[in-house]
Amino acid sequence: MGEEKVKEEAMQILGMFQVLPRLVVFDLDYTLWPFYCECRSKREMPSMYPHAKGILHALKDKGIDIAVASRSPTADIANTFVDKLSIKSMFVAKEIFPSWTNKTDHFQRIHSRTRVPYNSMLFFDDENRNIQAVSKMGVTSILVGNGVNLGALRQGLTEFAENWNASQKNKQKWITKFSQNSNSSENKQK
Ligand SMILES: [Mg+2]
Repeated sequence: MGEEKVKEEAMQILGMFQVLPRLVVFDLDYTLWPFYCECRSKREMPSMYPHAKGILHALKDKGIDIAVASRSPTADIANTFVDKLSIKSMFVAKEIFPSWTNKTDHFQRIHSRTRVPYNSMLFFDDENRNIQAVSKMGVTSILVGNGVNLGALRQGLTEFAENWNASQKNKQKWITKFSQNSNSSENKQK
């Protein structure tokens, strides 16, 4: 499937959802491209997973911001590849540095840069430890098995919408409970 066709299908998938994330964050190695960039040379011309570029363009067209969170030890190679693939200017934030925190510090930086709340973010990564740690922050996090593709996008948007609706319901419950409590304490004072 060509890039334009993927983008068209991704736009159709995005059109099916009433709530959408404000920011979608991607890992690089084995999520956007099928290799570890520390094993490659800067002089090479990289290529992405077949659906990746079309999905990035569809998100941008839909007005959804995109960002990168990578623990690559070779940020220079990663940045060179992002530049060579002509996707550099698409990202509102690019956090590429090694760390032992399973990307929670990457997300803190992305949050302070973009001001997007964690529960308005969607994240794709191929490592379960990152998925576990980042989802605890409130980010809808999707484990990809063979890079990001249209199936992963659909799954991610579905889980995002479910998490969003559940959190809105909880908020409503809390507001109701709070107003009942404040009513009863007012009554006590009388
Ligand atoms: Mg990876």
